[in-house]
Amino acid sequence: MTPHPDIVYVLFTEAEIAKAVCDMGKRLRNYYADKNPVVVCTLKGAVTFFADLVRAMDCPVQFDFLQASSYHDGTTSGGCVQIKKDLETDIAGRHVILVEDIIDTGNTIACVKQVLLARNPASVRTVCLVDKPDRRTADIQSDDTCFCIPDAFIVGYGLDYAQRYRNLPYIGVLKESVYAK
Ligand code: 5GP
Ligand code: MG
Repeated sequence: MTPHPDIVYVLFTEAEIAKAVCDMGKRLRNYYADKNPVVVCTLKGAVTFFADLVRAMDCPVQFDFLQASSYHDGTTSGGCVQIKKDLETDIAGRHVILVEDIIDTGNTIACVKQVLLARNPASVRTVCLVDKPDRRTADIQSDDTCFCIPDAFIVGYGLDYAQRYRNLPYIGVLKESVYAK
């Protein structure tokens, strides 16, 4: 398949993503089999990953959704995030899996994790589709990761630039000319 014209190159194909997500689902299943975890999808970027991941976890799970303030259609972040849409579940005493699309500076996930920990869950583990450790400033690591990459701005498989490209089935590097305009 020819990639979208705004894509420099495909970083991870549909098949590579499916394999990595399925493997993560199995690892989570082994740990959470008897824990009925609350699996929290961070909107909107993690939606596609979340939908595939929970189906790869062959054990009881509960879904919930959370939205933190985003990059405001840009490509860099800073400061502390705000919760735009909160969970519906009372997570006190529950095991929580926080599903994030990308950890870049780590700021978003560090803030969200802090908010969740204040609610006294039994545990919180963070899992992400893509880890970009080069630009990490927050003192946080993903507990499980599908792909680790050097700094690049990527889209597809849920990831956007200005709300576009989320439905590309692969992950690709976006042409700089698209966001330099
Ligand atoms: P952080 O707070 O860790 O710097 O940023 C995390 C959020 O920034 C991610 O959840 C994602 O929404 C966005 N982000 C960071 N890097 C990229 C990228 O390469 N592509 C896209 N589409 N979003 C990114
Ligand atoms: Mg995000």
